[in-house]
Amino acid sequence: MKGYGLLQVYTGNGKGKTTAALGVALRACGHGAKTLVLQFMKDDPGYGEYKAAGYLPGFEVRQIGRDCFVDFANPDPIDLAMVQDGWEIAKRALLEQKYDLLILDELNIALAHNMLPVEEVVRFLKDNKGRTEVIATGRYAPAPLIEAADLVTEMQEVKHYFFAGIHSRDGIDH
Ligand code: ATP
Ligand code: MG
Repeated sequence: MKGYGLLQVYTGNGKGKTTAALGVALRACGHGAKTLVLQFMKDDPGYGEYKAAGYLPGFEVRQIGRDCFVDFANPDPIDLAMVQDGWEIAKRALLEQKYDLLILDELNIALAHNMLPVEEVVRFLKDNKGRTEVIATGRYAPAPLIEAADLVTEMQEVKHYFFAGIHSRDGIDH
């Protein structure tokens, strides 16, 4: 797509990082763009975006992970291997220039916890995104990624219904 090929980062502790990226995907889809959403450390076909992929042409969602929480203090080798697998898929997608938009959901978290080599990943994204727009989401985006990005938005938590006891709702959070 004309003009695509920038690097965006959505980070911060407030809600809206993944949903903002999905909003871009919806908008891009309306213009005929091809999108891949790669969701790191996730294995849950119950997510609305995963289900919606079946209805939207050019909108693909892949989850690479296990259906359990990752212990960031001491990541299981399986989780590390799956994050690495996800990154290989992302690299291939960029090298093959198969997509207009590549969303790397929770890449920031994986980088923040050194599950991938930060400098290497940032260098690869800078050098190889070509005409693919890349959006990396997740808390704690590391400084080298922020430095390399063309756009960085920080979602700041002001209030979240979670603290009033309202947890994940289908279509809003999940
Ligand atoms: P969303 O997917 O809703 O856009 P997100 O990508 O900004 O959220 P994540 O860190 O990926 O946030 O967390 C995803 C889940 O955690 C969602 O259910 C979201 O509502 C919830 N969440 C996000 N921010 C907060 C917060 N500050 N406090 C409590 N729960 C949160
Ligand atoms: Mg998210």
